[in-house]
Amino acid sequence: MKEMSLGKKRTVLVVEDDLINREILSAILSDSYTVLQAENGKAGLEILESGGKEISLILLDIQMPVMNGYEFLDAIGQIPSFRSIPIIITTSSNATDDEIKCLENGASDFVSKPYNPDIILRRVGSMIRLREASSVINRVERDSVTGLYSRDFFYINSENILSASTQIEYDIFCCEIMSLKMLQDRHGKAKTEKLLIGITKALEDNFGFDSLYGKLSDNTFSVLTAHKSKENYESISENLRNAVKNMSIPDTVLHFSAYPCVDSTVSVSSLCSRTLTALDEVKFQFGRQFAEFNSEFRDKYSRRHAILGYMETAIKENQFEVYYQPKFSLGEEKVGGAEAIVRWTHPELGFISPGEFIPLFESSGFITELDFYVAERTCKDLREWIDSGKPVIPVSFNLSRADFSHPSLAETVENITDKYSIPHELLHIEVTESAYTDNMKVFLDTVQKLHNKGFRIELDDFGAGYSSLTVLSELDIDILKLDMYFARNMGSPKQDLILKHIFSIAQKLNIAVVAEGVETKEQSDAFRSMGCDYIQGYYYSRPIPKAQFEEYLNK
Ligand code: C2E
Ligand code: CA
Ligand code: CA
Repeated sequence: MKEMSLGKKRTVLVVEDDLINREILSAILSDSYTVLQAENGKAGLEILESGGKEISLILLDIQMPVMNGYEFLDAIGQIPSFRSIPIIITTSSNATDDEIKCLENGASDFVSKPYNPDIILRRVGSMIRLREASSVINRVERDSVTGLYSRDFFYINSENILSASTQIEYDIFCCEIMSLKMLQDRHGKAKTEKLLIGITKALEDNFGFDSLYGKLSDNTFSVLTAHKSKENYESISENLRNAVKNMSIPDTVLHFSAYPCVDSTVSVSSLCSRTLTALDEVKFQFGRQFAEFNSEFRDKYSRRHAILGYMETAIKENQFEVYYQPKFSLGEEKVGGAEAIVRWTHPELGFISPGEFIPLFESSGFITELDFYVAERTCKDLREWIDSGKPVIPVSFNLSRADFSHPSLAETVENITDKYSIPHELLHIEVTESAYTDNMKVFLDTVQKLHNKGFRIELDDFGAGYSSLTVLSELDIDILKLDMYFARNMGSPKQDLILKHIFSIAQKLNIAVVAEGVETKEQSDAFRSMGCDYIQGYYYSRPIPKAQFEEYLNK
């Protein structure tokens, strides 16, 4: 009798110390299945770990040396991706105690020795079919790791709850894990899955059984819950953060936001996207981890929509201008470089700060078009200065973290530069650490490529992130730009110590240092005494339009 001959051949793992028993089981199964053999639990685990996804069912003996069947069941129960593999116990004992103990420990069924081929084939076949059928249903409805409703099912079930109960006010609460991919790279898949399960449990502990839970994406959880106060949410957020701390997976950062479901005409999917927009708000604010969608935010939200709606025309109508902010060389006592910074004056909205529109353009992807535009304008100006015969200083422009998803970033930058025949060493490129944490490999490759083409690399906002020293060791950086934070906190003994170290490392690595955001003579003098090479800040000059910058250079 053959089982499941349709479709691809499934794989069955036989874990059994007795060679003869292994051979008998293999002989029974090998017509219908690919059979793998392990002589004890430990060997079985090793096979699973080297390709566990492929295994459809396990036949498991209980009494084995090294790692027995119970220990094996226990180990498998800890690994989320193996937990759903059906396990059939092969037992010689008639003692029902053993069987019950196995079923309690996660086994699905048992067959007893001596083996009856027909019974074994039938049980194995039906177990596999059952699991595959239920995993099809579950895959759509439930997230496979956490067991929470998948996005669509969360939406549907939430809609049902909201339309059925007009009495209770509900909120959507979202929880997002920052840089999940980075965590996965650092700590491995098993640990990250544990983290996801831990967060699920912490959410359930805090929101209780009368809330609805969903998994909106890889790193986003959602909860539909009875309306709560801001204080209430803040303390829940604190609890969740503590729960994660106790899981001791370093670098895990969570952000939270809540949005009230007051408008019944808005779909749950839009409610969730508004909740997440509110969440984006706190992502870039150090120390803030909870956002509430209130009326103040509502106004901001509509302004954002307006800004995003205007961007395409803005670039066509040349509303963006490039300003230059000098970098003062302390060694030469003169301007030694400049940074190109974009300015936007909209006909209706007036001056819009880059601090406001850059993050929006980053999330919409438009930033790359704008950055190329700024790069091109900078090259055009540089060409004019070169042609005028005056001494020319290097100018830097900014690349956003979002630019690194452009498939040919380095080549495009080179094309722009070559269009105006600008010597590459005159163009400096400012990159930030945040781009590094987004996607280390792409970032390192691209920056290396740019460096190899002769562009100088400036690491912007240094000290604002958390991977600072790692980046320095992995990348050819020419210039390091100290985040404004350091100028603000000048004089604190702890910080001065950190600065001293940064300067000595930079010196050893032959990297020049620019201090940003310097507004006073005291700050400038302090940086000078530490061996800083350049100062950029209002103390010397604000970012100024091209004509004014030319005047400044002449002085
Ligand atoms: P950033 O690259 O760190 O640029 C320096 C920012 O610090 C500029 O703010 C500049 O005006 C400001 N600044 C310079 N000196 C001082 C000072 O002494 N005190 C104070 N308080 N601020 C000072 P801005 O123009 O608001 O730009 C903010 C951020 O927007 C920039 O920070 C940069 O991340 C981004 N940005 C600006 N232009 C571009 C661009 O063309 N492309 C991209 N991707 N981002 C840009
Ligand atoms: Ca910059
Ligand atoms: Ca900066």
